[in-house]
Amino acid sequence: MTAQTATDTRIARKISRVIRGMPTTDGAGVELTRVIAQPALPMLDPFLLLDAFRSDQPDDYIAGFPPHPHRGFETVTYLLAGRMRHRDNAGHEGVIEAGGIQWMTAGKGIVHSEMPEQEEGMLEGFQLWVNLPAAHKMDQPAYQEHPAAVIPNEHRDAGGVVRVIAGETARGTRGPVLQPLTEPLYLDVELPPDALFSESLPPHHNGFAYVVTGELEAEDTEGRTARLERDDLGVLSHGDEVVLRAGSNGARFLLIAGRPLNEPVARGGPFVMNTKAEIRQAYEDYESERF
Ligand code: MN
Repeated sequence: MTAQTATDTRIARKISRVIRGMPTTDGAGVELTRVIAQPALPMLDPFLLLDAFRSDQPDDYIAGFPPHPHRGFETVTYLLAGRMRHRDNAGHEGVIEAGGIQWMTAGKGIVHSEMPEQEEGMLEGFQLWVNLPAAHKMDQPAYQEHPAAVIPNEHRDAGGVVRVIAGETARGTRGPVLQPLTEPLYLDVELPPDALFSESLPPHHNGFAYVVTGELEAEDTEGRTARLERDDLGVLSHGDEVVLRAGSNGARFLLIAGRPLNEPVARGGPFVMNTKAEIRQAYEDYESERF
């Protein structure tokens, strides 16, 4: 026997499905692309929703998201361009700027607004919803907020850059966000033309790559080459390692993974609980101002 057994037993993750983001509107009429939480992909445990927004037309975003509640999960806002002001009913307020992340644990409940802090120019970013396990859905609300300056950049071969928002790369770069309940990995990866990217992932965590610009290629579970374009999400099969290649114009993509909760999910608008009774309770608590 030789010493190569360890590498031979690693299982490569492949693209099992490609989902195209769907245009929709939400909030007070914000134009966005819904990627997770649409008919083709209702959720990818523990991820409940992924929205992308990018526009330089104020009419697409100016109405924002006036006060609304959340309970039972986390909302994660990551901006690439523009500014977004948030304000909640407990007096927490701030502005998310380009390159910054807000990881909000809604827990037992918050009421907040998310409004563009600009009247013109480009607004671009993402909102991801991450579920909480039953035992922690009613935890106190909490925030992890980090500007671009504290998000580490890991430099890869040939000019690739990996911004590590949550989790840890195989090379040991650790993002500022901590969430032991789902152990999320959240990477924003930029690759030059035709560059190869590989990363280790916990074998049983669910994961996906979502293309922001350019084109990505990877082997799919049928043994063919999957090509992902802007607004495509590639669901990854389980395994230890993912290998992706940028297209001829390079690529920017989010690589996101997390530990599935494998619990029943009951959804009601801005609330995500385990049972319908808990959803009814959430509406009742919100309407009687117990948030
Ligand atoms: Mn919200």
